[in-house]
Amino acid sequence: MSAASRAPAWTDSSSASRPAIRHDWSLEEIEALFALPFNDLLFRAQQVHRAHFDPNAVQVSTLLSIKTGACPEDCKYCPQSGHYNTGLGKEKLLEIEKVVEQAKAAKEAGASRFCMGAAWRSPRERDLDVVLEMVGRVKALGLETCMTLGMVDTHQASRLAKAGLDYYNHNLDTSPEYYGEIITTRTYADRLDTLANVREAGMKVCSGGILGMGEAPRDRAALLQQLVRLDPHPESVPINMLVKVPGTPMENVEDMDPLEFIRAIAVARILMPKSHVRLSAGREQMDESTQALAFLAGANSIFYGDTLLTTGNPQVERDRALFDKLGLHPEPIAPETRRDDEQTETALAHAIQRQRDDALFYDAARG
Ligand code: SF4
Repeated sequence: MSAASRAPAWTDSSSASRPAIRHDWSLEEIEALFALPFNDLLFRAQQVHRAHFDPNAVQVSTLLSIKTGACPEDCKYCPQSGHYNTGLGKEKLLEIEKVVEQAKAAKEAGASRFCMGAAWRSPRERDLDVVLEMVGRVKALGLETCMTLGMVDTHQASRLAKAGLDYYNHNLDTSPEYYGEIITTRTYADRLDTLANVREAGMKVCSGGILGMGEAPRDRAALLQQLVRLDPHPESVPINMLVKVPGTPMENVEDMDPLEFIRAIAVARILMPKSHVRLSAGREQMDESTQALAFLAGANSIFYGDTLLTTGNPQVERDRALFDKLGLHPEPIAPETRRDDEQTETALAHAIQRQRDDALFYDAARG
């Protein structure tokens, strides 16, 4: 890719493509976006996307399950729930050194953020002590950190924030109306409380949902409306396509039309212009064309690596090949999340990272 093509030519500061950030979208307005002709919707999403982001940069995260299985919650899509027999082995909390080893490998492979997930209803204090040390050790590698540990109260959120955790992931999953069909062991209000606690503690919020769980189109609009009401919007919005795992109650649910999924990405992009919209679980089932459309619709974050908690993720080589085909490059780590002693070297680090990205994602011989 030439240097010229990387100039910030995407920047469009016109008011048409830089609409005010809103939190008061009505359900009807959101449904009207979903109903736009497909090309019009994608054009509008791409306009918004270009006003706020380099359209060819994709933030790359790696996800590690630090405690797998035997979760007391009954999320009907989840192989880690102890309520369903999915043949998934139960594991204890991983040792800190193993987590650090994986984080180093993720960084070597080009990830800028390391996400750690534990299948808990809520972390116990003694587990939290270990987790806080993980945060410090992973952050010291120069990676952004994200955790998903279930519900957290204000005290737990504050401890995580003080340890330097950058992002906390807690998904809303679906609309308030459909929620009871998916989870009965915690309420929608519980989820909103956790998100409020995370925000109040000063961490960035990662929250999205899962599509293709048999919900109605209105539920997709209502899920996005809930996310939009969060003020500020979540910095990261994972939009997942259900992975139908045998043994879960969702194993035989009807497939979602991939174009409907792309519409949801585009609407999320329009509603939350400054958020990273993450093409998340379910990517392995998508062909390259669907993924390309998702990037065109405004998705600009992916999980990269061999595993996505307990379901498969496209192999690293396939991702590199796709980035190459589409002329995409990994987004450098955000300067504000670097450690202080790294700040002065930000410009140099970006240059080095870009060179490294080139080596990782492009065949230099074809450059
Ligand atoms: S989604 Fe999370 S909370 Fe729900 S069963 Fe799975 S691990 Fe537990």
